[in-house]
Amino acid sequence: MDCRDYRAQFIDLFDDELDFRQTEKLLRHVANCSACSADLKSMYVMISGIRKLDKKASYFPEYEDKIKLIKSRCKREKAVRVIQIVLSAFAFLILALFILMGFTV
Ligand SMILES: [Zn+2]
Repeated sequence: MDCRDYRAQFIDLFDDELDFRQTEKLLRHVANCSACSADLKSMYVMISGIRKLDKKASYFPEYEDKIKLIKSRCKREKAVRVIQIVLSAFAFLILALFILMGFTV
């Protein structure tokens, strides 16, 4: 993916439309690309400015806070995913154990 692909995801990032993998990848790129970093920030300022004019949309965090929120959401989603994997592995083990012990499900 190049800068243009990442920039196409900026609005989805602000709207929490990206999954944690896409979010991590995008944030990693932005951290290492000064052009995208500057664009992301100015796009956020512009979008939140426009949306503030809409009376239905009330709360808009500052850019730095928004990035922090996105990062913590990403971390939370990742943790949930890990728990899901562990639980399904556990369920599989229990099922395998039952089958090995001769029980029918
Ligand atoms: Zn870039």
